[in-house]
Amino acid sequence: MSNRLRPELPRLPKHMARLPIDKRGYPVPWFAARLNGEPDFRLFDPSKLARASKERRCWVCGEPLSAFNYFVISILDAVNRVSMEPPMHEDCAVFSAQACPFLTRAEMHRRTAGLPEDTYEVAGVVLDRNPGVILVWATRAYSVIPVAKGLMFKIGEPVNCRWFTEGRNATRDDLRESIEELTHEQNFSPDQLRWLMRLFESAQS
Ligand SMILES: [Zn+2]
Repeated sequence: MSNRLRPELPRLPKHMARLPIDKRGYPVPWFAARLNGEPDFRLFDPSKLARASKERRCWVCGEPLSAFNYFVISILDAVNRVSMEPPMHEDCAVFSAQACPFLTRAEMHRRTAGLPEDTYEVAGVVLDRNPGVILVWATRAYSVIPVAKGLMFKIGEPVNCRWFTEGRNATRDDLRESIEELTHEQNFSPDQLRWLMRLFESAQS
């Protein structure tokens, strides 16, 4: 494939430089499965999930990880300390948080039509709407728990967190708004809310 990267995307980080570019101009993540010959970012290749976990390879670029693990997660995942996707390099995680169309475009919903039966959807995190504020959560430790159709990653103490929304750094107001939207379906306890705000504040200094 010799397609051109979409001009509005951030510069491709070093680790992602060798990924193919799809027809739309997005770099094709290592995990993506193919549907009718074309990579479909909604689907992951189960063999890649196994390798990412066993060989400690970055979910986005497929290269080996270093000591730190970066998870791209929603605030709900942060509260629950889980990720449905394996860890990444820092630059791959930040690029994903800034550029992934599912994460950054409020008007773009995950399409579910046209998916074959028994495919492997990226996530249990699949939300029918934009996830609002997302975190790039850096940690030294995690454990892997097998779940139906995949793996769940129980993530360790954060070494640091970066917060994004719609491809830019998230503000306190973005976080409040995101929490408010989520409270329609998720009751955060006062402790969880305080913890989230503290985590956010600690990243702002
Ligand atoms: Zn990577």
